[in-house]
Amino acid sequence: MKIKFLGAAREVTGSCFVIETDKARFAIDCGMHQGGSDMEARNWDINVYDPRNIDFFLITHAHIDHSGLLPRMVQNGFSGPVYATEPTGDLIKILLLDSAHIQETDATSKTRRQQRNGRSEKIIPLYSTKDAEAVAPLIKTRRYNDVFSPADGIKVNFQDAGHILGAAIVELFIEENGSSTKLVFSGDIGRSHQLLMKDPVDITGADFLFMESTYGDRNHKGEEDSLNELAEAIQYSYARREKIIIPAFAVERTQEMLYSLYLLNRDGRLPKDIPVILDSPLAIKATEIFRKYHSYLDEETHSLLKAGEDPLDLPQLQFSSSTEQSMKINETKGSAIVISASGMANAGRIRHHLRHNLWRTGASIVFVGFQAQGTPGRKIIEGAKKIRIFNEDIAVKAKIWTIGGFSAHAGQTQLLDWLGKFPDKKMPVFLIHGEPDTQNILASLIKQKLGFNVTIPEYLEGITLKAGAEPEAVKQPQAVPQPVDMAPLLAELKAKIDNLNSQLGNIRSLPASRQAEFLNLIQQAKLSMDEIKIRDLNARK
Ligand SMILES: [Zn+2]
Ligand SMILES: [Zn+2]
Repeated sequence: MKIKFLGAAREVTGSCFVIETDKARFAIDCGMHQGGSDMEARNWDINVYDPRNIDFFLITHAHIDHSGLLPRMVQNGFSGPVYATEPTGDLIKILLLDSAHIQETDATSKTRRQQRNGRSEKIIPLYSTKDAEAVAPLIKTRRYNDVFSPADGIKVNFQDAGHILGAAIVELFIEENGSSTKLVFSGDIGRSHQLLMKDPVDITGADFLFMESTYGDRNHKGEEDSLNELAEAIQYSYARREKIIIPAFAVERTQEMLYSLYLLNRDGRLPKDIPVILDSPLAIKATEIFRKYHSYLDEETHSLLKAGEDPLDLPQLQFSSSTEQSMKINETKGSAIVISASGMANAGRIRHHLRHNLWRTGASIVFVGFQAQGTPGRKIIEGAKKIRIFNEDIAVKAKIWTIGGFSAHAGQTQLLDWLGKFPDKKMPVFLIHGEPDTQNILASLIKQKLGFNVTIPEYLEGITLKAGAEPEAVKQPQAVPQPVDMAPLLAELKAKIDNLNSQLGNIRSLPASRQAEFLNLIQQAKLSMDEIKIRDLNARK
């Protein structure tokens, strides 16, 4: 059988691994690529997926970096089943609709910008609400530990990954030419002792393991430290009558933040008069799905629920669904805790809250999740002095807090512990879902401490897998893109500008209407130059 890495290869987003056996072609996950513009361009490259020839998808969990391209597949001819756990099925439906809405709004505002620049071309969204709706009937749900066979010679088992509600580790049993091979895909592995979630299940063995490595380079602080830090951030801005803005993914992180605030409140560490505003219609819906599937949550949450407590509720909790309610938050003076999405500040209402609060001394921006390269969130935590939001440069004067301990991902030691339980040290390990520097650190630790052989696959790399044999690279048919030589073009452009400069005197002596024509053409040229985002290029090096 062959595997091809269509995402989460030396990056954290875009999870998708296509497997071809002698009887089927299918994929684990169908995630959206997020980050800078060349990363996002991968979402448009439908040919590498060939969705018409995908028999089925197995989705590990609902996060958009694992499920966000499903509507794009349906739009381009995929019509097979999408297997997921029950909560994942419910969460996917609301997350994909939200994602389609973001795609549509972005396309509309880009089209308007084009029109203002005098261009008539219409920007089409990556996919529409209709495409997202078309995914729902394809979803087939399966429980944890309930082996099923989506195609001849293939058996699948979902196990609890402890990452977000319904997240699964995928055990894949493949019969091919009379021999059987077991592949394990970790999906995103949860942090042990995470609020709400059970701990990730230990897997007893595999022929090949594909393991996430998001936090392969560090350990998180403990829950207690993280709660203390959150309390400190709240106290800091409450005392200054400013807001505490928490960008949080709508699923899991928001609920974990509500739970954390519930704990602070229970211990008398949350000011009684500070409003807590959940400003994300998606997070409000996701919270309902958490309540519906409470049997998937951990023991602690269960005993609270049994005792009549609701750890996802607070006396001062307010929900803001409509745009008007959302806008009112920033028109109202005084301190408040605002939880809003998206978690990496690259989309959604959080951008409005950042625009209103980033520049305010005394306000707090509290990051509680992973910030991928190229996102505004990453730029802020890396100390950017200004951030561009809605075409406006906003100064960063608020206090920036990064609380890693709320992560829904296992830290370095937890990843090593989980991996260490696989008994066969000859099992090849593929590290996925991580940034290259992080993966190199984890890979050498794994080799040193556990003795596994580690491969870090590349984007679009193909590998042949045969149990007991060394994984073999599949020859890549596509040509390597040639670097473009821009130097002659730039020299020509410069000569033209120099020539214009030397003719300025002559131009000024022309009639006003002719001068205006020149000015107009030069302005257009400048607008084209503005589109080349040199700052982005530097940031990505
Ligand atoms: Zn995830
Ligand atoms: Zn992920």
